[in-house]
Amino acid sequence: MTVPFLDLNIQYQSIKPEIDKAIQNVIDHSAFILGKAVSEFEREFAAAHSVKHCIGVSSGTDANHLALWSLGVGPGDEVIIPANTFIATAWGATLCGAKPIFVDCEPDGYTIDATKVEQVITQKSKAIVPVHLYGQSADLDTLAEIANKNKLFLIEDAAQAHLAEYKGKMVGGLSEAASFSFYPGKNLGAFGEAGAVTMNNDQLAINLKMMREHGQSEKYHHEVLGHNYRMEGIQGAVLGVKLKYLKEWTEKRRTVAEKYKKLLGDVEQIVLPKEMPYAKHVYHLFVIRVKEKREKREERRNGLMRYLNENGVATGLHYPVPLHLQNCFKYLGYNKGDFPVSEELAELGLSLPMFPEMSDVQIEYVCDIITKFFMKQ
Ligand SMILES: *Cc1c(COP(=O)(O)O)cnc(C)c1O
Repeated sequence: MTVPFLDLNIQYQSIKPEIDKAIQNVIDHSAFILGKAVSEFEREFAAAHSVKHCIGVSSGTDANHLALWSLGVGPGDEVIIPANTFIATAWGATLCGAKPIFVDCEPDGYTIDATKVEQVITQKSKAIVPVHLYGQSADLDTLAEIANKNKLFLIEDAAQAHLAEYKGKMVGGLSEAASFSFYPGKNLGAFGEAGAVTMNNDQLAINLKMMREHGQSEKYHHEVLGHNYRMEGIQGAVLGVKLKYLKEWTEKRRTVAEKYKKLLGDVEQIVLPKEMPYAKHVYHLFVIRVKEKREKREERRNGLMRYLNENGVATGLHYPVPLHLQNCFKYLGYNKGDFPVSEELAELGLSLPMFPEMSDVQIEYVCDIITKFFMKQ
């Protein structure tokens, strides 16, 4: 038996006529850039997240950049981000000419450790960008308090967290601005590159809308600096169709997670993902952590990974190298040992297959292989 890490084709097949029709409609109207399909999707995505504005853009990475850029983050500024995230969170800062400052993640929810943020704040700090990692929100209230006290912007990287909740409220509208990604493998995925920035501030929305389209207020009248960060019409059309199913798919992800937790609950050698008391997790990823002593930890996790792969189960690593140890950030001067929780997660974390359409047989098979692996030891 083989179990893929995710299966985008099953999802497409389940709504094919609707998707095909929506794409054809964009082509028939030659509405290739922005247009009606995009603006309708923006309205619906904002409503789904109880936030006033949604601005569709060309990718989650571009959303990361635009959110910071539109708030005036620039050269000489520092932006505080978690060490354990996808690199694009850091590009938001570097594309503005700012310096990313890393903070370790906390050991239960794996999001930025709010208790360690204040010690890195300097005169140059401009923003904190927590990541709702793996689909679980960061501790936003605690972070907002720190941000307010120190006059910093709080910006959510919600690329992995569509429809996730914090204390019963939807993410995306709980800070100055939030960025989302619609990369095909995300919980809400386009048929290409796409992303969005959400916010409640009307003036910020006006600025951001200009900035994504060459800074123009009307054609060839450029009010502010900008770039081409527009969303394509076909992506808006696909996302508009898929958004209607997102709630149902999210519940299915949660059901898959519950089944995993039940079937793996007795495996003493692993730590299962923990849903924090303040969060409703949307399980973009289901990341387990192998328990192992320091000397042998990577070897043990890799052994489990190899065993799963040999038995037809695809796995992922999120992420094998924390940002402070990436070659591209050598100039920042961090060292191994600086962020022990992130480093441990990089060496011991393993992402299991996770997608809404995963069958019971597939889940049981994955858990069976994991159980067998540890019985052999
Ligand atoms: C996917 C992702 C991004 C970037 O999104 P793209 O659409 O691929 O550019 C940014 N931040 C995080 C945390 C992500 O997972």
